[in-house]
Amino acid sequence: MSRLEVHQIPVLTDNYVYLAHCPETAATAVVDPAVTKPVLDAAAKKEWSITHIINTHHHDDHTGGNLAIKRATGCTIVGPGPDRDRIPGIDIVVDEGDTFMLGAAEARIFFVPGHTRGHIAYWFADSAALFCGDTMFAMGCGRLFEGTPVQMWDSLQKLMGLPGDTRVYCAHEYTQANGRFALTVDPQNDDLVRRMAVVDDMRARNLPTVPSTIAEERATNPFLRPRSPLVMKALDMEGADPVTVFAELRQRKDRF
Ligand code: ZN
Ligand code: FE
Repeated sequence: MSRLEVHQIPVLTDNYVYLAHCPETAATAVVDPAVTKPVLDAAAKKEWSITHIINTHHHDDHTGGNLAIKRATGCTIVGPGPDRDRIPGIDIVVDEGDTFMLGAAEARIFFVPGHTRGHIAYWFADSAALFCGDTMFAMGCGRLFEGTPVQMWDSLQKLMGLPGDTRVYCAHEYTQANGRFALTVDPQNDDLVRRMAVVDDMRARNLPTVPSTIAEERATNPFLRPRSPLVMKALDMEGADPVTVFAELRQRKDRF
C-alpha cells in the first residue's frame, strides 16, 4: 500500500499529462503522454525515473509520446486490451476488474467505453486518485466518438460511485467551457453557480481547475445528474429515464 505523489504537466492547448510516483519503490508512471520532451523534462526535474506509461485510450493526444519516452527510458507501457492494436508500444494489457501494481500502489481498472470503444480508467484507491482520461471531465464528459449514450452513462456510473474524496485527474482543462454549458441545463443548482464563480476566478489567474473530486462532480457535473429533478425540469423531460436525459444532455453539449 502506497500513496502516490502526482505531478501535473500542462501540455499542448489544454491537455494534462500526469506523473504518478510511488515513494516507497520509486516507480513512476506517465499517464497519457501527449508529448515527449515536456514529460522527460518534468521527470528529470523531479528526479523521478519513468518506469511505466499508463494509457487510458488510443487518441494521439494521449499516446503521442509513447514510443519516444519508451525509447528514452525503457519503460513498460500499459493500456486497454481492446485497444492493443491502437496503442503504440503497448506491453501489458489490462481490462475491467484487473489490478495493476505501480510499485507498491495498486490500481483497479475500470472499462469505461463511450468516448472510444476501448477506454479504461485507473483508480488508485489508497491514493484517492482516479485517472479517467477523456471519460469524465470537470463538469463534463468526453464526446461519444465510438460509443453510445447507454455505454457512456454506464461508464460514468462506475466512476461516480467512487468515494467522494477521490481526486479526478482528467486529461483536459475544459472546465470553464463545460461549466458555461452546465449552467444552461442546471441553472437552479446553487453548488454549480458557486463552483463556476471559483472556476472563473482560477482561470482568470491561469490556475488549473483539475483535479476536482468525485463529490464535486456528483454535485455539479450535469452528465452525472440526469436523475436530478432540477436538470429534468430544465430540459422539460420530467419522468424520462436517465439514459434518455443523458443522451439529450450530450447532444445539446455537442451543439453548444
Ligand atoms: Zn480522447
Ligand atoms: Fe483527449
